[in-house]
Amino acid sequence: MTALWVVVAVLVVVAVLVVALNLWARRAGYQIPGRSPVRCSKGHLFLTTWVMGGSLTKVRLGPLTRWGHCSVGRHWATMRPVKDDELSDKDRTTLYGGAPQ
Ligand SMILES: [Zn+2]
Repeated sequence: MTALWVVVAVLVVVAVLVVALNLWARRAGYQIPGRSPVRCSKGHLFLTTWVMGGSLTKVRLGPLTRWGHCSVGRHWATMRPVKDDELSDKDRTTLYGGAPQ
């Protein structure tokens, strides 16, 4: 019975931490959790799903650094999310449309 309470307590603490991390990221200007603009180590910019505390398709190297597949350059690289106010108008057009397909 005691072990069950320990497991429940750990799960609650982890859940609170994950929610707090995602709230912090959103307040810091990142579009996290959700579809976030990210830049790979070679400078390519693209949208990917980013949730603090969880990643199924990328290797977490830190809270704001992951290693995964760059869909623009089609290579594997480290990537970091980009804050909304760090995007130029050209970046927004590249990410959200406006350019001919
Ligand atoms: Zn790239």
